[in-house]
Amino acid sequence: MQYDLNHLHTLLADLPKGQLFVLTDSHTTEYCLPILADFIGQIPYHLLTIEAGEQSKNLASVQAVWDFMLKHRATRQAVLINIGGGVVTDLGGFAAATYMRGIRFVNIPTTLLAMVDASTGGKTGINFRGVKNSIGTFSQPMATLIYPPFLSTLSSKEILSGMAEMIKHGLIISPSHYYAVLTILEDYASSSDSLFSQGGEAFRQLISDSIAIKENVITQDPTEKGMRKILNFGHTIGHAIEEAAHQHAFSGKEESTIPPHGYCVMWGMVAALYLSVVKLGFPKDLLTQVSHVMLMYYGRPNCDCKERQQLIKWMLHDKKNMVSSDSSVSTIRFTLLRDIGEAAINQTISNSEIDKALEYLFSL
Ligand code: NAD
Repeated sequence: MQYDLNHLHTLLADLPKGQLFVLTDSHTTEYCLPILADFIGQIPYHLLTIEAGEQSKNLASVQAVWDFMLKHRATRQAVLINIGGGVVTDLGGFAAATYMRGIRFVNIPTTLLAMVDASTGGKTGINFRGVKNSIGTFSQPMATLIYPPFLSTLSSKEILSGMAEMIKHGLIISPSHYYAVLTILEDYASSSDSLFSQGGEAFRQLISDSIAIKENVITQDPTEKGMRKILNFGHTIGHAIEEAAHQHAFSGKEESTIPPHGYCVMWGMVAALYLSVVKLGFPKDLLTQVSHVMLMYYGRPNCDCKERQQLIKWMLHDKKNMVSSDSSVSTIRFTLLRDIGEAAINQTISNSEIDKALEYLFSL
């Protein structure tokens, strides 16, 4: 269920004294906490701030949250409010789900990506030993509170990142949502403040529709036994590209060279659509259209063609790529599309087919 920030007071009505905790990152402390404080009102809270960025989504940060909560005597009645992008909601959700065998938490997403994707669905987690989201839980927040004005301080790169997940929701479920997002993307690119022109009603509606698409999928398959896998569309290759970017960062490049999550998903979707054309007869002209959208707004992945084999190795690490039943050999399984709105899960793809898809992506 989507709620707005006014709902916060109702959620905190039964909270014992001293049991409210707030997790922010260094950016949301500056841009979003002052607004949240107005909604919290007179209720005192303990604030913990982590460094902004994906590099904070690790065990050390989780330990910092656990330490902080123990130090301030958080009991099982405590509530943790996570206010930030997907890093804060994933990490804070995981810390809350594991502290004292699980305490309540509220997600207040402040990036577009976290609003339409990361903060709903109950997946929490951290990156561990270089493998993205390898440790985590399925744990539902008490509520996810949406407040679109937070987006006014977000960089255009982060807005585009969130739009990639909205495009994904359209591609897997709803042609009308896909085309509506493309229209708003064009408007946004031609005038970067147009999202909130005339109150931003069209944009707010689109955010709401995107969340509803995800919630509808989650309701049918909360723990990803089947249908929920359609939400992984674009993520198998996207995560591998994201990991490649992080490895480059660890070998000395700046964190700022790491593309936002949604960019990696966009690149992963183009490669997955190439496979969809080959394997399931997805219309070629639509592959061309999405490739064009990618080039226009997201550019090309900053990966070397020589890295194709390494990318495939990373895909084999992805927890969603199941081990085949007859041997210990891993096979890579994708969500692909027959058409817009017609997703097919568990499509087994050979390494050479993936290599061809990467070749297509890098040749654009
Ligand atoms: P993020 O949390 O790193 O936020 C992006 C940047 O925007 C950060 O620098 C952040 O400090 C800043 N920021 C946040 N809100 C702001 C605001 N209102 N104004 C100005 N700056 C602001 O990244 P993200 O893209 O929100 O989330 C990516 C993460 O979400 C990844 O770790 C990904 O794995 C995860 N994710 C999880 C799920 C899920 O289902 N749990 C789904 C998709 C993505």
